[in-house]
Amino acid sequence: MQWVGLAELASAVSNAGGLGIVTGLTQPTPEDLLKEIERCQSMTDKPFGVNLTILPTIKPVPYDEYAQAIVDSGVKIVETAGRNPEPYLPLFKAAGIKLIHKCTSIRHALKAEKIGCDAVSVDGFECAGHPGEDDVTNMILLPLAARRLKIPFLASGGLGDGRGLAAALAMGADGINMGTRFMVTKEAPIHDNVKQRMIEATELDTALIYRSFRNTARVFKNSVAEQVVEIESRPGETKFEDIQSLVQGVKGRELFDDGDLDKGIWSAGMIVGLIDDNPSCEELITRIVAEADDIISHRLREMLA
Ligand code: NAD
Repeated sequence: MQWVGLAELASAVSNAGGLGIVTGLTQPTPEDLLKEIERCQSMTDKPFGVNLTILPTIKPVPYDEYAQAIVDSGVKIVETAGRNPEPYLPLFKAAGIKLIHKCTSIRHALKAEKIGCDAVSVDGFECAGHPGEDDVTNMILLPLAARRLKIPFLASGGLGDGRGLAAALAMGADGINMGTRFMVTKEAPIHDNVKQRMIEATELDTALIYRSFRNTARVFKNSVAEQVVEIESRPGETKFEDIQSLVQGVKGRELFDDGDLDKGIWSAGMIVGLIDDNPSCEELITRIVAEADDIISHRLREMLA
């Protein structure tokens, strides 16, 4: 949700009954993050969280200062992703913050539980962005998480409708985490061309890039993503410099602003195949919950009868 998790979207999700997330690194400096959180606080009186992703970046990120900005803001829920959040746990815990760590494997989820995370978000291979390197889908990850974890967990990746919510709950999850689906909502601060392209897309319209760097990311399959996959598939070692100009995040941000769909790359999950409208967050959440309620109350009950 880099460049998408601004106050407009996070507050709309929280106002609609979900837990909106402001994405930390979308803000260029820790001071800007503090201001963005304050903007979100002015747009909702409901709880919302902040994401801090620790993965390779082109420019070094002062993570400690971003973590401190989150603490200073008074926000009480943080979602970490990418690397082990242990170094930040004492700071967050001392501030009374609940930590949800995003994990793409059971071993990482168990580790998160062991070091004291309050919950995990279990991220299947279907997801947008970084799915890890194990390629295990949620049909396996979620029941495994239900068998092995003691802390609550969310299902993440491939989720965007009531069937997905009911299935995730049936597999043991305590809730669902949606990214790509929220990109195609009225409040998502991105160009309509991007939303329209995602509505037209099928489940085959994502590509995996950075496989050769063990930093795999699932992105929308546009011409730039196809070029990156082609460069990585050439014989011999790919250097990050060979693709850097194509993938730099700043071009993805411009793409979201001006709607030029082949300017850069953007994260998107397989759920694009199930997205066919651009509702408000309120309409979307209400519909998903109603669909899941109907499946659980009628379809499943009738099967038992
Ligand atoms: P950026 O412009 O610094 O880098 C662009 C992309 O290249 C990122 O995906 C980054 O991980 C990757 N990258 C950078 N240096 C690399 C290297 N030496 N080897 C391999 N890959 C490298 O990043 P950005 O687009 O401004 O995003 C900021 C941060 O947010 C990055 O850490 C990115 O990975 C992360 N992010 C995470 C998700 C997610 O799904 N969790 C989605 C988008 C971005």
